[in-house]
Amino acid sequence: MNIFPVPYKTEESTGKFNFGSAVDALISDSFKNEEAIELLGELWTNFTLGVGKLNIVKSGQLNENQFLIVNKDSAVDFPPLEDGFDYNLQITDDRIMIEGADDKGLIHGFSTLLQAIKPVNLEEGKEKFAIDCVSISDKPALGFRGIHVCVFPETTLNFLKKVILVSGLMKYSHIVLEFWGMLKYDVMPELSWENAYTKDQIRPLIKDANALGMEVIPMFNHLGHATQSRVMYGKHVVLDQNPKKALLFEPDGWTWCLSNPESLALLREIRKELMELCGPSEYFHLGCDEAYSFATCDICKNTDKHSLLVNYLNGLSEELKQDNRRAIIWGDMLLDRAAWGPEIVAYSRPDQRTHEIIDRLDKSIMIADWQYNTQEPKLPTSEHFMEKGFDVVACPWYDWKNVLSLSQATKALNASGLLVTTWHTLNDHIVLIPYAASTAWCTEENLNKIESQQLRTTVASLQRKLVPVNGVYENAGWNRNEIKN
Ligand SMILES: [Zn+2]
Repeated sequence: MNIFPVPYKTEESTGKFNFGSAVDALISDSFKNEEAIELLGELWTNFTLGVGKLNIVKSGQLNENQFLIVNKDSAVDFPPLEDGFDYNLQITDDRIMIEGADDKGLIHGFSTLLQAIKPVNLEEGKEKFAIDCVSISDKPALGFRGIHVCVFPETTLNFLKKVILVSGLMKYSHIVLEFWGMLKYDVMPELSWENAYTKDQIRPLIKDANALGMEVIPMFNHLGHATQSRVMYGKHVVLDQNPKKALLFEPDGWTWCLSNPESLALLREIRKELMELCGPSEYFHLGCDEAYSFATCDICKNTDKHSLLVNYLNGLSEELKQDNRRAIIWGDMLLDRAAWGPEIVAYSRPDQRTHEIIDRLDKSIMIADWQYNTQEPKLPTSEHFMEKGFDVVACPWYDWKNVLSLSQATKALNASGLLVTTWHTLNDHIVLIPYAASTAWCTEENLNKIESQQLRTTVASLQRKLVPVNGVYENAGWNRNEIKN
């Protein structure tokens, strides 16, 4: 069977569950995720190539987090779900049974089921589909399986939807959304470019993410990267529209000015709006990487810079706790450039020494340790953060060896999990989504079964079903054009 991420335990047997265009299903009446029920129905239609209708009805006969399709009237015994497992999926010639450990487990079981559907006859009026008989017991290797997704001015809503649905199907637990000047906030129009998306355009995507069992973690850079633009092209979403906002930032515009109460008040409003938009989550990502020009204005540079920074971060963490959230920050500013080898990402410079705040920093802040040069399953930086008492997620980028190394190191260290980053390279490295998900979900043995070319064509086939493009060339695949120019 061609299922991604490869399930923990798969026992195939002979026979098939055959079905046509109309299928009735039951789901536990305790299953509360109404949006999931709606989306699963839609996806069933998409995975049956626009033919199938899945009529999901709530039933008090089922135990919690159970889902059932039966062809014949017969007694149904769900196989017991072992402790620590996420879901069971059992398919026989007369029934399909899913039992999840919780609602997310049920959704994960359904994500597996969708991938197993095969068309048999597509002649109009005679449509038939089949699923091979199988018994699957599944559980992830890592609890936190996150993906960080950037919304750039060039990111279309169609592409974003594909990324979210593919990530959901690949059973990510968290998706971090970072808008690069691409969300219209109520608090200040200059925070977004003219072509930015409205909250109403983004809400359906948040709904999709939640429906597939993912928490959406809002992200906004609270230190460096205040430009909401990449450093290499020099754009600045606020100052290119209104230079008179200069005092919100340090003199070069790259970093927020922490001494200006207006900056702090603005950031508070931004957090509020993002939390409302992105829905319930345990986290808020504050960014805080590459703060090259931190404390360089006349006020900041004459204060105790370390106290300024640590009070700011601990204050943010406290404020987020009021909303039952934990702060996440990138780890590079907490690593002494002089103490680590050249292959390690560490941006505490000798003239700033921001790493010295680490023992004063609130330990409930989660550290996102991005290490893109690591090619061996060792993460001394994550180990360092854990020894200091922090929870850590390791963050690779598109290089597969980097992804694999960090996932292996995370497992060896028993760190919290993996947060794969994608930045501006996602169109060219979309296969990273299923690959990184697999490194976070699969056993080593199952991971070794994955063949890169097969993963590439499989994910292309999946996105075609997840978000049908109805013949619109620009919306097809991962990139607007077939050849870049
Ligand atoms: Zn300042």
